[in-house]
Amino acid sequence: RIRAEIERSLPAALGRLARFADVFREQVRRTLVVPRARRRFWDRVFEGRVGELALAGDEIAARRELIRLLDGFRSEAPSAGMVHLVGAGPGDPDLLTLKAHRLLQRADVLVYDRLVSDEILSMARRDAERVYVGKRRANHCVPQDEINDRLVALARAGKSVVRLKGGDPFVFGRGGEEVEALVKAGVAVEVVPGVTAALGCASSAGIPLTHRDHAQACILVTGHLKNGTVDLDWKMLSRPRQTVVIYMGAGALPQIVAQLISYGLPASTPIALIENGTTDRERRIVGTLATIDRQVQRTVLTGPTLCMVGAVVGLAVERGQEFNFESRMGL
Ligand code: SAH
Repeated sequence: RIRAEIERSLPAALGRLARFADVFREQVRRTLVVPRARRRFWDRVFEGRVGELALAGDEIAARRELIRLLDGFRSEAPSAGMVHLVGAGPGDPDLLTLKAHRLLQRADVLVYDRLVSDEILSMARRDAERVYVGKRRANHCVPQDEINDRLVALARAGKSVVRLKGGDPFVFGRGGEEVEALVKAGVAVEVVPGVTAALGCASSAGIPLTHRDHAQACILVTGHLKNGTVDLDWKMLSRPRQTVVIYMGAGALPQIVAQLISYGLPASTPIALIENGTTDRERRIVGTLATIDRQVQRTVLTGPTLCMVGAVVGLAVERGQEFNFESRMGL
Protein backbone atom coordinates (compact mmCIF):
# COMPACT_ATOMS: atom_id res chain seq x y z
CA ARG A 1 0.00 0.00 0.00
CA ILE A 2 2.80 2.40 0.83
CA ARG A 3 4.42 1.68 -2.50
CA ALA A 4 1.14 2.29 -4.29
CA GLU A 5 0.71 5.58 -2.45
CA ILE A 6 4.18 6.72 -3.40
CA GLU A 7 3.75 5.70 -7.01
CA ARG A 8 0.46 7.50 -7.20
CA SER A 9 1.93 10.75 -5.95
CA LEU A 10 4.90 10.78 -8.31
CA PRO A 11 4.86 11.46 -12.02
CA ALA A 12 5.74 8.44 -14.14
CA ALA A 13 8.44 10.37 -16.00
CA LEU A 14 10.28 11.24 -12.79
CA GLY A 15 13.40 9.38 -13.89
CA ARG A 16 13.68 11.60 -16.93
CA LEU A 17 13.47 14.70 -14.75
CA ALA A 18 16.10 13.32 -12.36
CA ARG A 19 18.53 12.60 -15.20
CA PHE A 20 17.95 16.07 -16.60
CA ALA A 21 18.66 17.67 -13.20
CA ASP A 22 21.76 15.55 -12.70
CA VAL A 23 23.40 17.09 -15.76
CA PHE A 24 23.30 20.52 -14.11
CA ARG A 25 24.05 19.49 -10.58
CA GLU A 26 27.74 20.44 -10.51
CA GLN A 27 27.22 23.68 -12.34
CA VAL A 28 24.50 24.71 -9.89
CA ARG A 29 26.66 23.76 -6.93
CA ARG A 30 29.47 25.98 -8.19
CA THR A 31 27.19 28.88 -9.07
CA LEU A 32 25.08 28.97 -5.94
CA VAL A 33 27.42 28.28 -3.06
CA VAL A 34 24.92 28.99 -0.29
CA PRO A 35 23.02 25.73 0.35
CA ARG A 36 19.83 27.61 1.11
CA ALA A 37 19.88 29.38 -2.24
CA ARG A 38 20.62 26.10 -3.95
CA ARG A 39 17.71 24.42 -2.27
CA ARG A 40 15.38 27.23 -3.26
CA PHE A 41 16.69 27.00 -6.81
CA TRP A 42 16.00 23.29 -7.08
CA ASP A 43 12.57 23.75 -5.49
CA ARG A 44 11.79 26.21 -8.23
CA VAL A 45 13.13 23.86 -10.88
CA PHE A 46 11.09 20.88 -9.76
CA GLU A 47 7.92 22.76 -8.92
CA GLY A 48 7.97 25.16 -11.83
CA ARG A 49 8.19 25.38 -15.58
CA VAL A 50 11.58 23.70 -15.91
CA GLY A 51 10.20 20.59 -14.26
CA GLU A 52 7.12 20.61 -16.41
CA LEU A 53 9.13 20.91 -19.59
CA ALA A 54 11.58 18.19 -18.59
CA LEU A 55 8.77 15.85 -17.59
CA ALA A 56 7.11 16.52 -20.90
CA GLY A 57 10.32 15.54 -22.66
CA ASP A 58 11.16 18.97 -24.10
CA GLU A 59 14.76 19.00 -22.94
CA ILE A 60 15.87 21.91 -25.09
CA ALA A 61 13.25 24.27 -23.69
CA ALA A 62 13.81 22.94 -20.18
CA ARG A 63 17.54 23.57 -20.47
CA ARG A 64 16.99 27.12 -21.73
CA GLU A 65 14.56 27.80 -18.91
CA LEU A 66 16.91 26.36 -16.28
CA ILE A 67 19.81 28.55 -17.40
CA ARG A 68 17.59 31.61 -17.30
CA LEU A 69 16.47 30.72 -13.79
CA LEU A 70 20.05 30.12 -12.64
CA ASP A 71 21.13 33.53 -14.01
CA GLY A 72 18.29 35.11 -12.05
CA PHE A 73 19.35 33.38 -8.84
CA ARG A 74 22.99 34.32 -9.32
CA SER A 75 22.28 38.03 -9.50
CA GLU A 76 19.73 37.96 -6.68
CA ALA A 77 20.64 39.68 -3.43
CA PRO A 78 20.73 37.28 -0.49
CA SER A 79 17.21 36.90 0.80
CA ALA A 80 16.20 38.49 4.07
CA GLY A 81 15.34 36.19 6.92
CA MET A 82 11.96 35.95 8.51
CA VAL A 83 10.35 34.49 11.59
CA HIS A 84 7.10 32.54 11.52
CA LEU A 85 5.48 32.15 14.90
CA VAL A 86 3.70 28.87 14.41
CA GLY A 87 1.13 27.19 16.62
CA ALA A 88 1.95 23.48 16.86
CA GLY A 89 -1.40 22.55 18.39
CA PRO A 90 -1.97 20.57 21.59
CA GLY A 91 0.02 17.45 20.71
CA ASP A 92 -1.70 15.33 18.07
CA PRO A 93 0.34 15.98 14.89
CA ASP A 94 -2.80 15.64 12.78
CA LEU A 95 -4.03 18.85 14.37
CA LEU A 96 -1.30 20.92 12.73
CA THR A 97 -2.61 23.39 10.18
CA LEU A 98 -1.65 22.89 6.56
CA LYS A 99 0.27 26.13 6.73
CA ALA A 100 2.25 25.03 9.78
CA HIS A 101 3.10 21.80 8.01
CA ARG A 102 4.27 23.60 4.89
CA LEU A 103 6.42 26.03 6.88
CA LEU A 104 7.96 23.16 8.86
CA GLN A 105 9.11 21.59 5.65
CA ARG A 106 10.77 24.77 4.49
CA ALA A 107 12.33 26.11 7.66
CA ASP A 108 16.09 26.55 8.00
CA VAL A 109 15.82 26.67 11.77
CA LEU A 110 13.24 25.46 14.28
CA VAL A 111 13.09 27.15 17.63
CA TYR A 112 10.81 25.14 19.90
CA ASP A 113 9.91 24.49 23.49
CA ARG A 114 8.85 21.68 25.73
CA LEU A 115 5.23 21.44 24.62
CA VAL A 116 6.15 20.59 21.05
CA SER A 117 6.22 16.84 20.57
CA ASP A 118 8.92 14.84 18.81
CA GLU A 119 6.36 13.66 16.28
CA ILE A 120 5.77 17.22 15.20
CA LEU A 121 9.46 18.05 15.12
CA SER A 122 10.06 15.06 12.90
CA MET A 123 7.84 16.64 10.27
CA ALA A 124 10.40 19.35 9.67
CA ARG A 125 13.07 19.13 7.02
CA ARG A 126 15.67 16.73 8.23
CA ASP A 127 18.58 19.11 7.78
CA ALA A 128 16.86 22.00 9.57
CA GLU A 129 18.75 23.27 12.59
CA ARG A 130 16.90 22.65 15.88
CA VAL A 131 17.12 25.01 18.82
CA TYR A 132 15.47 24.07 22.13
CA VAL A 133 14.44 27.00 24.29
CA GLY A 134 12.06 25.20 26.61
CA LYS A 135 11.08 26.29 30.04
CA ARG A 136 9.91 24.28 32.97
CA ARG A 137 7.72 25.45 35.76
CA ALA A 138 9.85 27.26 38.36
CA ASN A 139 12.92 26.42 36.30
CA HIS A 140 13.15 28.98 33.53
CA CYS A 141 16.02 27.68 31.48
CA VAL A 142 16.00 30.29 28.74
CA PRO A 143 14.82 33.80 29.65
CA GLN A 144 12.35 35.37 27.23
CA ASP A 145 14.76 38.19 26.32
CA GLU A 146 17.30 35.66 25.24
CA ILE A 147 14.76 33.86 23.06
CA ASN A 148 13.81 37.16 21.46
CA ASP A 149 17.45 38.04 20.78
CA ARG A 150 18.07 34.63 19.31
CA LEU A 151 15.12 34.90 16.93
CA VAL A 152 16.30 38.32 15.79
CA ALA A 153 19.87 37.11 15.24
CA LEU A 154 18.77 34.05 13.24
CA ALA A 155 16.49 36.12 11.00
CA ARG A 156 19.22 38.71 10.47
CA ALA A 157 21.50 35.92 9.31
CA GLY A 158 19.03 35.40 6.47
CA LYS A 159 17.40 32.27 7.89
CA SER A 160 13.82 31.25 7.57
CA VAL A 161 12.95 30.63 11.19
CA VAL A 162 9.96 28.70 12.47
CA ARG A 163 9.28 29.49 16.09
CA LEU A 164 7.08 26.57 17.11
CA LYS A 165 4.85 26.94 20.12
CA GLY A 166 2.51 24.47 21.74
CA GLY A 167 -1.15 25.21 21.04
CA ASP A 168 -1.64 28.71 19.72
CA PRO A 169 1.16 31.29 19.90
CA PHE A 170 -1.16 33.98 21.20
CA VAL A 171 -2.87 31.98 23.94
CA PHE A 172 -0.62 32.01 27.03
CA GLY A 173 2.30 31.53 24.68
CA ARG A 174 4.13 34.85 25.05
CA GLY A 175 3.77 35.21 21.29
CA GLY A 176 2.86 38.86 21.78
CA GLU A 177 6.22 39.61 23.35
CA GLU A 178 8.11 37.86 20.59
CA VAL A 179 6.21 39.69 17.86
CA GLU A 180 6.91 42.98 19.59
CA ALA A 181 10.64 42.28 19.83
CA LEU A 182 10.83 41.19 16.19
CA VAL A 183 8.91 44.19 14.90
CA LYS A 184 11.11 46.49 16.96
CA ALA A 185 14.19 44.90 15.44
CA GLY A 186 12.76 45.34 11.95
CA VAL A 187 12.46 41.60 11.32
CA ALA A 188 9.56 40.34 9.19
CA VAL A 189 7.23 38.16 11.22
CA GLU A 190 4.13 36.13 10.52
CA VAL A 191 1.86 34.43 13.04
CA VAL A 192 0.26 31.11 12.18
CA PRO A 193 -2.51 30.10 14.60
CA GLY A 194 -2.73 26.68 16.16
CA VAL A 195 -5.38 24.65 17.96
CA THR A 196 -5.13 25.82 21.54
CA ALA A 197 -5.15 23.26 24.37
CA ALA A 198 -8.66 24.27 25.46
CA LEU A 199 -10.08 23.38 22.05
CA GLY A 200 -8.05 20.23 21.64
CA CYS A 201 -8.88 18.90 25.10
CA ALA A 202 -12.54 19.84 24.83
CA SER A 203 -12.87 17.88 21.60
CA SER A 204 -11.08 14.80 22.78
CA ALA A 205 -12.96 14.75 26.07
CA GLY A 206 -16.32 15.43 24.42
CA ILE A 207 -16.91 18.63 26.36
CA PRO A 208 -18.72 21.35 24.40
CA LEU A 209 -17.20 24.62 25.62
CA THR A 210 -20.42 26.50 24.97
CA HIS A 211 -23.91 25.08 24.98
CA ARG A 212 -27.28 26.76 24.44
CA ASP A 213 -28.63 25.39 27.70
CA HIS A 214 -25.56 25.45 29.93
CA ALA A 215 -22.82 27.89 29.00
CA GLN A 216 -23.08 31.17 27.15
CA ALA A 217 -19.46 32.08 27.63
CA CYS A 218 -16.09 30.42 27.85
CA ILE A 219 -13.23 32.00 29.72
CA LEU A 220 -9.58 31.06 29.30
CA VAL A 221 -7.42 31.95 32.29
CA THR A 222 -4.01 31.08 33.61
CA GLY A 223 -3.70 29.47 37.01
CA HIS A 224 0.01 30.13 37.13
CA LEU A 225 1.23 30.53 40.69
CA LYS A 226 2.94 33.80 41.53
CA ASN A 227 4.63 33.80 44.92
CA GLY A 228 2.58 30.77 45.85
CA THR A 229 -0.85 32.25 45.08
CA VAL A 230 -3.17 32.46 42.11
CA ASP A 231 -4.36 35.99 41.60
CA LEU A 232 -7.55 35.85 39.53
CA ASP A 233 -10.88 37.64 39.36
CA TRP A 234 -12.71 34.94 41.33
CA LYS A 235 -15.99 36.79 41.33
CA MET A 236 -16.07 36.79 37.54
CA LEU A 237 -14.92 33.17 37.34
CA SER A 238 -17.61 31.96 39.74
CA ARG A 239 -20.54 33.22 37.72
CA PRO A 240 -23.06 30.61 36.58
CA ARG A 241 -23.69 29.54 32.97
CA GLN A 242 -20.13 29.74 31.75
CA THR A 243 -17.19 27.43 31.19
CA VAL A 244 -13.86 28.25 32.78
CA VAL A 245 -10.71 26.74 31.30
CA ILE A 246 -7.61 27.10 33.42
CA TYR A 247 -4.20 26.73 31.81
CA MET A 248 -1.16 25.87 33.93
CA GLY A 249 -3.47 25.36 36.85
CA ALA A 250 -2.78 21.84 38.07
CA GLY A 251 -0.29 22.97 40.71
CA ALA A 252 -2.76 25.44 42.15
CA LEU A 253 -5.79 23.16 42.08
CA PRO A 254 -6.61 23.24 45.81
CA GLN A 255 -6.58 27.04 45.80
CA ILE A 256 -8.63 27.27 42.64
CA VAL A 257 -11.29 24.91 43.94
CA ALA A 258 -11.49 26.63 47.32
CA GLN A 259 -11.83 30.07 45.77
CA LEU A 260 -14.50 29.04 43.27
CA ILE A 261 -16.57 27.51 46.07
CA SER A 262 -16.09 30.46 48.39
CA TYR A 263 -17.22 32.83 45.64
CA GLY A 264 -20.43 30.90 45.16
CA LEU A 265 -20.02 28.04 42.68
CA PRO A 266 -21.87 24.97 44.01
CA ALA A 267 -19.53 22.23 45.24
CA SER A 268 -21.36 19.89 42.86
CA THR A 269 -20.07 21.79 39.80
CA PRO A 270 -18.33 19.36 37.44
CA ILE A 271 -14.61 19.78 36.89
CA ALA A 272 -12.19 17.87 34.70
CA LEU A 273 -8.43 17.68 34.60
CA ILE A 274 -7.02 16.65 31.26
CA GLU A 275 -3.37 15.72 30.97
CA ASN A 276 -1.55 15.39 27.65
CA GLY A 277 -4.79 16.11 25.83
CA THR A 278 -5.14 14.84 22.21
CA THR A 279 -2.09 12.58 22.52
CA ASP A 280 -2.10 8.84 23.10
CA ARG A 281 -0.96 9.57 26.65
CA GLU A 282 -4.10 11.56 27.41
CA ARG A 283 -5.54 11.05 30.89
CA ARG A 284 -8.66 12.59 32.34
CA ILE A 285 -9.86 12.96 35.86
CA VAL A 286 -13.46 14.01 36.12
CA GLY A 287 -15.26 14.89 39.32
CA THR A 288 -16.82 17.83 41.09
CA LEU A 289 -15.34 20.75 42.97
CA ALA A 290 -16.02 18.73 46.12
CA THR A 291 -14.22 15.57 45.01
CA ILE A 292 -11.48 16.53 42.58
CA ASP A 293 -8.77 17.25 45.13
CA ARG A 294 -9.10 13.80 46.62
CA GLN A 295 -9.15 12.19 43.19
CA VAL A 296 -6.01 14.01 42.10
CA GLN A 297 -4.12 12.93 45.18
CA ARG A 298 -4.34 9.34 43.97
CA THR A 299 -2.30 10.07 40.86
CA VAL A 300 0.70 12.05 39.67
CA LEU A 301 0.18 14.46 36.82
CA THR A 302 3.46 15.13 35.09
CA GLY A 303 2.41 16.26 31.60
CA PRO A 304 0.75 19.55 30.65
CA THR A 305 -2.64 19.59 32.31
CA LEU A 306 -5.71 21.67 31.68
CA CYS A 307 -8.53 22.24 34.10
CA MET A 308 -12.12 22.76 32.93
CA VAL A 309 -14.96 23.83 35.17
CA GLY A 310 -18.67 24.13 34.41
CA ALA A 311 -21.92 22.33 33.72
CA VAL A 312 -20.70 21.34 30.24
CA VAL A 313 -18.07 19.10 31.82
CA GLY A 314 -20.94 17.09 33.27
CA LEU A 315 -22.40 16.54 29.80
CA ALA A 316 -19.44 14.51 28.72
CA VAL A 317 -19.80 12.37 31.82
CA GLU A 318 -23.53 11.95 31.33
CA ARG A 319 -22.94 10.70 27.83
CA GLY A 320 -21.14 7.83 29.47
CA GLN A 321 -18.02 7.78 27.32
CA GLU A 322 -14.79 6.53 28.79
CA PHE A 323 -14.98 8.96 31.63
CA ASN A 324 -14.99 6.48 34.41
CA PHE A 325 -11.97 7.81 36.17
CA GLU A 326 -11.61 4.86 38.53
CA SER A 327 -11.33 2.31 35.74
CA ARG A 328 -9.16 4.46 33.50
CA MET A 329 -6.64 5.08 36.18
CA GLY A 330 -6.69 1.45 37.21
CA LEU A 331 -7.77 2.37 40.71
N1 SAH B 1 -0.04 28.29 23.88
C1 SAH B 1 -0.55 27.07 24.52
C2 SAH B 1 -0.59 27.18 26.02
C3 SAH B 1 0.75 27.32 26.66
S1 SAH B 1 0.67 27.42 28.39
C4 SAH B 1 -1.93 26.76 23.94
O1 SAH B 1 -2.49 27.57 23.23
O2 SAH B 1 -2.43 25.65 24.23
C5 SAH B 1 0.96 25.78 28.87
C6 SAH B 1 -0.28 25.14 29.44
O3 SAH B 1 -1.16 24.78 28.41
C7 SAH B 1 -0.04 23.86 30.19
O4 SAH B 1 0.38 24.10 31.52
C8 SAH B 1 -1.40 23.22 30.16
O5 SAH B 1 -2.27 23.80 31.10
C9 SAH B 1 -1.88 23.63 28.77
N2 SAH B 1 -1.66 22.59 27.77
C10 SAH B 1 -0.91 22.65 26.67
N3 SAH B 1 -0.98 21.51 25.96
C11 SAH B 1 -1.80 20.70 26.64
C12 SAH B 1 -2.28 19.37 26.43
N4 SAH B 1 -1.92 18.66 25.35
N5 SAH B 1 -3.12 18.84 27.35
C13 SAH B 1 -3.49 19.55 28.42
N6 SAH B 1 -3.08 20.80 28.67
C14 SAH B 1 -2.25 21.37 27.79
